Amino acid sequence: MTDSVVETPPFDIEKIRADFPVLKQTVHGKPLMYLDNAATTQKPWAVIDRVHKFDSEEYGTVRRGAYFLSEGATRHFDDARKKVAVLLGTPDPNEIVFTSGTTQAINLVAHSFGKAFIGEGDEIIISNIEHHANTVPWQVVCQERGAVLKVIPVNDLGELILEEYEKLLSSRTKMVAVNHVSNALGTVNPIKEIIAMAHKVGARVLIDGAQSTPHMKLDMKVLDCDFYTFSGHKMYGPSGVGGLYGRMELLKDMPPYVTGGDMIQHVTIEKTTYNQPPSRFEAGTPPITQVIGLGAAVDYLQAVGLEKIAEYENNLLEYGTKLLNDIDSITIIGTAEHKASILSFVSDAIHPHDVVTLLDQDGIACRGGHHCAQPTMQRFQVPATTRASVSFYNKYEELDALAESLKKAIKLFS
Ligand code: PLP
Repeated sequence: MTDSVVETPPFDIEKIRADFPVLKQTVHGKPLMYLDNAATTQKPWAVIDRVHKFDSEEYGTVRRGAYFLSEGATRHFDDARKKVAVLLGTPDPNEIVFTSGTTQAINLVAHSFGKAFIGEGDEIIISNIEHHANTVPWQVVCQERGAVLKVIPVNDLGELILEEYEKLLSSRTKMVAVNHVSNALGTVNPIKEIIAMAHKVGARVLIDGAQSTPHMKLDMKVLDCDFYTFSGHKMYGPSGVGGLYGRMELLKDMPPYVTGGDMIQHVTIEKTTYNQPPSRFEAGTPPITQVIGLGAAVDYLQAVGLEKIAEYENNLLEYGTKLLNDIDSITIIGTAEHKASILSFVSDAIHPHDVVTLLDQDGIACRGGHHCAQPTMQRFQVPATTRASVSFYNKYEELDALAESLKKAIKLFS
């Protein structure tokens, strides 16, 4: 390790790593160093075992059967909703809607809230550093409803310019949709302030929490949040599941997004009445096993402790930032004062796609590309970046290895 100050992890890092079987392997003869956690996270035994036990011993449909397996599965399913509610800081589990992930959760709000509350000439505000999942649905809603899309600009550090945001807000603003943590830059946005400013003009706020839920302690009530989204596969749980926190008074007034079985109160050929939330927004058989796995992932995160996770990951980020800043020809894109877990960078010597291919030869998994955030790339005038994203199972030594491998790659191309 370099002589920079290295804080001792607030937990036994080797014990943590032993919880994640995938980390044990070698790739191209080198120990796997997994630094693509912003794309998807690895699963601990706690999740793998829970899913295996559920599928092999307890599986049944939920909310329908009046028999042993179905009743047990329903109980576990409901428990998972309660666990997510506690994680996000809401006392009402019915404010948690399960979806297939953040993308579907944002689409749900965009289309359902849009249908009920957004009309001709209304305005929706997003930022210049959103994932496409928090951009395209709002573009579509604007096209369909005759609304106008406005964009909060960012400064050269990758921070939202709040003075400009204030100027965009008006009585026509119906929705502000921004991420908590940018997946392309790592910026942590001041969402409490953003929410308060939007509420002053009567607008509602959706926070895309795909990149924040695994990294920090959250409290919807303290944030006074209207909508908050999350993805299971980015928080050490299964893929195919995620969801939405929605303020009950809003969910109650929103029409269904997907219709069919389970979301109804009563159906006749002439007319259907709908269930209360969250069921109104969970048509069809839900991803039962994945929800149970998500519940186990939440238990695991809570047991490690989100405050400890945040503290250690911030130290890793600071350490990695110093290492990359010391390499000639590397420029970090996204240097906000408040960041979480993401190091995005370019080199004038070598394209990100070549970088990640060479890193892979050293067992290092990083992502190269536009990270589904093309407007962010356009703002910083780069076609793509290389992104290393850390988790609490990563070690300082892995960042040393990243820096060494990068130096080698740059030398090869210089
Ligand atoms: N929003 C952000 C900030 C993301 O990083 C991602 C995934 O990378 C998404 C939304 C989409 O999440 P999912 O693919 O799980 O729906």
